[in-house]
Amino acid sequence: MSNCAIVGINWGDEGKGRMVDLITRDHDIVVRYQGGGNAGHTIINEYGKFALHLLPSGIFTDGVVNILGNGVALDCENLWNEIEDVTARGVKITPENLKISDRASLLLPWHRELDSLEETRLADKKYGSTKQGIAPFYSDKYSKKTVLAGELLYPDHLKAHLTDLLEWKNLTLKNVYGAEGYTIDQLMGWVRDYGEKIKPFVCDTGEYLKKASAEGKKILFEAQLGALRDLDYGIVPYTTSSNTIAAFAPVGSGLPGVRIDRIIGVVKAYSSCVGEGPFTCEWFGEQADKLREAGDEYGAKTGRPRRVGPIDIVATRYGVETQGATVIALTKLDILSCMDEIPICSKYELYGELTDKFPFPAILPDAKPVYEYMPGWKCDISGCRRWEDLPVEARNYVEYVEREIGCRIGYVSVGPERDSIIIR
Ligand code: GDP
Repeated sequence: MSNCAIVGINWGDEGKGRMVDLITRDHDIVVRYQGGGNAGHTIINEYGKFALHLLPSGIFTDGVVNILGNGVALDCENLWNEIEDVTARGVKITPENLKISDRASLLLPWHRELDSLEETRLADKKYGSTKQGIAPFYSDKYSKKTVLAGELLYPDHLKAHLTDLLEWKNLTLKNVYGAEGYTIDQLMGWVRDYGEKIKPFVCDTGEYLKKASAEGKKILFEAQLGALRDLDYGIVPYTTSSNTIAAFAPVGSGLPGVRIDRIIGVVKAYSSCVGEGPFTCEWFGEQADKLREAGDEYGAKTGRPRRVGPIDIVATRYGVETQGATVIALTKLDILSCMDEIPICSKYELYGELTDKFPFPAILPDAKPVYEYMPGWKCDISGCRRWEDLPVEARNYVEYVEREIGCRIGYVSVGPERDSIIIR
């Protein structure tokens, strides 16, 4: 099998980064195909601990080429800071192992500003944006009002294009939000400070991927966030502004005709969610604090405490179907070791009826969780490396989840380190 996508099944933060870091060694190329610097993939390996925001998680592996595809929100400023940070810690990043699609659109300075201005305007109706400019960026991309990374290679054209966009964008900034707006000198300063830095990495990655694919090179597609945050299939409007699903990987990577052979869906052994929106299984108070502490559930980008609760079978089954997952990686099973019994949300109650169908977004807030409980194992499982090393209660839990979500669990992760994994 040559191609593989690693995607999130739930609300994000499932541990995709650790899975990409593990699986990368079987691939030649890793491609990020959507999203921007608004999430963080945590990776622990021989270089230390990293929270990657834009760089593909294959950047640590020698001989692997990492690509930022046309579907990403290319934030030159964040990307450059991240490159500096990662290289300062001994990782080599050159145009040989990092390539940026000339068709990726640039996230411009006003996108981040607009994100903050709009969240402030929304006040208590806010969507829980990370204020990285992602929603304004994708709105402008679909309005055909951003700049492609490849335009950095044509400075005269770039300046003229930015001048046009500036005139248009200042109307919104000044007249709608009462902000100051930008001058062309400010924008060209930004191009000098950040655009020029990433320019050497920009190339026709579509051509590169086409050739690599024809030569039988193995490609790994890395998603950001999870199915429930997908712009079309997620918990609208509390989604991200891009398509997080594997079906988008060919479009956002630069290989629109590619067939993906294997889709690894990453599921956390319990639920966590950052930001606003309905979260049916949410725990509160002491119970939540205990799980949050045990799982160290604080946002990799924002440091925000994540909302937590038991695994949600209804939402997870929906995520598995939406992603078209062919195999599941269940992460953070070790965190449940502290529980006497393991709660599982097996169904929802909706308007007095039990259902296992994930509800339409508008009525999702009315759903109530229905729990079942399984015996816990109450011992440290982080050293287990074989299926039969796990206590029977832990195996029963994994098998129960597998049966209910309708997809084989091929990987069970018992720690954040690369090799803390059981491959079934
Ligand atoms: P991603 O965005 O999907 O890559 O997930 P994050 O990096 O935001 O969150 C996952 C967190 O869980 C990170 O801190 C990982 O180091 C950690 N992690 C991943 N798998 C495991 C595991 O099996 N056990 C434990 N204890 N931590 C894990």
